Amino acid sequence: MTPDLTRLVQLQELDDAIEDARRKIAAHPQRLADADARLSGATERLEGVRQRLKESQEARRTLEKDAAVFQGRLTKFKDQLSEIKTNREYQAMQHEIATAQSELLGVEEKVLEHMLEADVIAAEVKEAEQGLARQQREIGAEKTALDQELALVQTKLADASEKRAALTTAAQPRLIALFEQVARARKGIAISVATRDGSCSVCHVRLRPAVFQLVRQNDQIIQCESCQRILYYVPPPAPAEAPVTHP
Ligand SMILES: [Zn+2]
Repeated sequence: MTPDLTRLVQLQELDDAIEDARRKIAAHPQRLADADARLSGATERLEGVRQRLKESQEARRTLEKDAAVFQGRLTKFKDQLSEIKTNREYQAMQHEIATAQSELLGVEEKVLEHMLEADVIAAEVKEAEQGLARQQREIGAEKTALDQELALVQTKLADASEKRAALTTAAQPRLIALFEQVARARKGIAISVATRDGSCSVCHVRLRPAVFQLVRQNDQIIQCESCQRILYYVPPPAPAEAPVTHP
């Protein structure tokens, strides 16, 4: 292969590496944001369970106040019982006491239900806290890995850019101009390897036999007549030698 053609093939490899690195760098903020979004999911779950616990506790406190009111009423009725003169009044008061007692019992049962419910929710809070802590650790490690990966990609980009600059300085300006022109028109791919059966590997159009013949020689700049990409050829590997048999 001529030095010019070799340089153009290398230039394409460098451009591919540069493009790949730029894409990864551009995607980095979103990858960090995705990781953070997963963390905020775990935070929201914890907040939701904590809110349920708070509501359950508030409902219980309201019931406890109701219980205190009923308890007060019951005590008052019992005090009044000693001052009652008639049998009829006594029975009426007994009825009031029975009602107040049943109301008090009903509220106390509900208080108990809320206490049991709070125990269940408190366990859920603990679980959600542990889940969040686990997520924080995992996502912290993930973001560290992403940052390390970014640093590596940035190094690769700087390296490839430096090599590209050296290569374009060494090559003929006319060739670099041709390469850049085709690359711009063809989504950054200016070079195409010809397949062994004589097609352009990128646009898949079959080359004319005379063109393919020239491409196989790898000694001049030949463009695909269909996509304009600069063609080169990779000869098949030499046939392997017969395996040596050991007695
Ligand atoms: Zn082509």
